[in-house]
Amino acid sequence: MFIFKSKKELQKHLSAFGNKKTIGFVPTMGALHQGHLHLIEQSNLKCDISICSIFVNPTQFNNPNDLANYPNTLTIDLEKLEKVKCDIVYNPPVNDLYTQGETAKSYDFGSLATAMEGEFRPGHFNGMATVIEKLLNIINPTIAFFGQKDLQQLYIVKDLVKQMQSATVIEGVQTVREESGLAKSSRNKLLSESAKKEARLIYNCLNYCQKNKEKGVDKLKFHIQQQFLKQKNFTLEYAEFVALKTMLPIKDWEEENENAVSISAYHSGVRLIDNIIL
Ligand code: AMP
Repeated sequence: MFIFKSKKELQKHLSAFGNKKTIGFVPTMGALHQGHLHLIEQSNLKCDISICSIFVNPTQFNNPNDLANYPNTLTIDLEKLEKVKCDIVYNPPVNDLYTQGETAKSYDFGSLATAMEGEFRPGHFNGMATVIEKLLNIINPTIAFFGQKDLQQLYIVKDLVKQMQSATVIEGVQTVREESGLAKSSRNKLLSESAKKEARLIYNCLNYCQKNKEKGVDKLKFHIQQQFLKQKNFTLEYAEFVALKTMLPIKDWEEENENAVSISAYHSGVRLIDNIIL
């Protein structure tokens, strides 16, 4: 496995392949878990070369504490990537991607970026798209893999490559979960064992929606709100039912598999998100 700290070295290495190899790219912020590794495995299946970036992107954090507390486990991450046969890791310092004082670009993603994360993490998608645009321009992958866990991000990145007129295909990958149903997340490391147990409520609510779709959006939303009100250390930020095409809230179901329910909640100060397609 090759590890590059600078885009110059990485591009030099990639230029040797010309157009002869397909490149799969998995951008991450490190603290890798089975969800990330599943993306690499998908890349290995579909592409000749798999590249994983590990970069905690400062411009996508609207909360400085969240950035400061973001877990950093680089040595273990590299061992995990080696085990799943990742070919290349790009792990740059901030100044390899940003000039001094550079801030996020301002994008127009229309309705895709207004609800949910767009509402509760102002500036997040501009920061995320800024770094993804830079990474796609450096690597020019054949396919870039993104988790469905960050559903709005996945649809925004699909829009971003259209705006960039990039030929990169954006592929969404199913959410990997703990046995309890809790979505794997780097932030789970910040939860105590008992908090982790309580955090399965998010998946239980999503599952309830899937099994009780006929109750309709309003009743399901009320059900979720009631479940969270019963919890002492768990605060619901939003439970939103949206159309996949627009990422805007719905009152009635769109066609089968064109709807999603997304939940964001704080457990003991840790922000957790998850969703399911309905
Ligand atoms: P992050 O390091 O949190 O920025 O995530 C990097 C990529 O991994 C993103 O495309 C995420 O959507 C994806 N990802 C994170 N958690 C999971 C999961 N539990 N299952 C599948 N993909 C995930």
